[in-house]
Amino acid sequence: MVRVALITGGMGGLGEAICIKMAALGYHVVTTYSPNNTKAHDWLQTMNNMGYGFKAYPCDVTDFDSAKACIDAVTKDIGPVDVLVNNAGITRDMTFKKMTKADWDAVIHTNLDSVFNMTKQVIDGMVERKWGRVINVSSVNGQKGAFGQTNYSAAKAGMHGFTKALALEVAKNGVTVNTISPGYIGTKMVTAIPQEILDSKILPQIPVSRLGKPEEIAGLVAYLASDEAAFLTGANISINGGQHMF
Ligand code: NDP
Repeated sequence: MVRVALITGGMGGLGEAICIKMAALGYHVVTTYSPNNTKAHDWLQTMNNMGYGFKAYPCDVTDFDSAKACIDAVTKDIGPVDVLVNNAGITRDMTFKKMTKADWDAVIHTNLDSVFNMTKQVIDGMVERKWGRVINVSSVNGQKGAFGQTNYSAAKAGMHGFTKALALEVAKNGVTVNTISPGYIGTKMVTAIPQEILDSKILPQIPVSRLGKPEEIAGLVAYLASDEAAFLTGANISINGGQHMF
């Protein structure tokens, strides 16, 4: 039986690596893209020319009806979702003093409301089938806070509260719910930071002395999705090169 893995934001830096890893492991890989993403078709064509066989559906993860339409279409075309990776996310960094309500709302809607919107569509089916995996991609900055990220830190910390509560509700039905909290990973979200800031402020905080690789995050997601991880639920797994330990 081929399992269906849906990765939100699979065309981004981490999401793409997760899609590639899951395809290599034999999953039917489905990803989502924002309805206004004009590069989605090209991305899909490039990846599928490389033989990955990904499917992609438009979905605004901030919008419950859009999430429902997306999952309904995936279920009809491919089958029920067995593994949901809530990976889509954005930042709108600025000090709290400068932050507007719109900056707050955009980050909470995209990083936290999205987890409700997507998980709500798949969880009952997972429970009925007695197998499922929900993997929420949070951040080290949800664990420790970060200057200029009250919105992002709140959303990412909220994700883990969701994880723990839902994990309790579905544990006896073979469904696990976990959070992963990456540190600084070398995707465009991070490599857009000026090199002198990376060298002077960010790398010195990381005992491993480098940025993480998207493939390292993908490897952790793949493990959490596996049958071997059936006893692991409600966890928040740090993957940050030793930057933050607790
Ligand atoms: P990217 O910016 O490369 O990718 C983010 C993805 O989210 C994009 O594919 C984007 O899709 C999607 N997305 C954003 N808004 C929406 C929306 N409203 N509806 C649907 N999709 C949306 O980021 P990364 O790959 O770096 O990050 C992935 C996740 O990992 C995020 O949740 C991020 O917070 C988290 N993270 C990243 C770290 C890092 O160092 N990179 C560290 C810790 C956590 P589209 O382009 O189609 O809009």
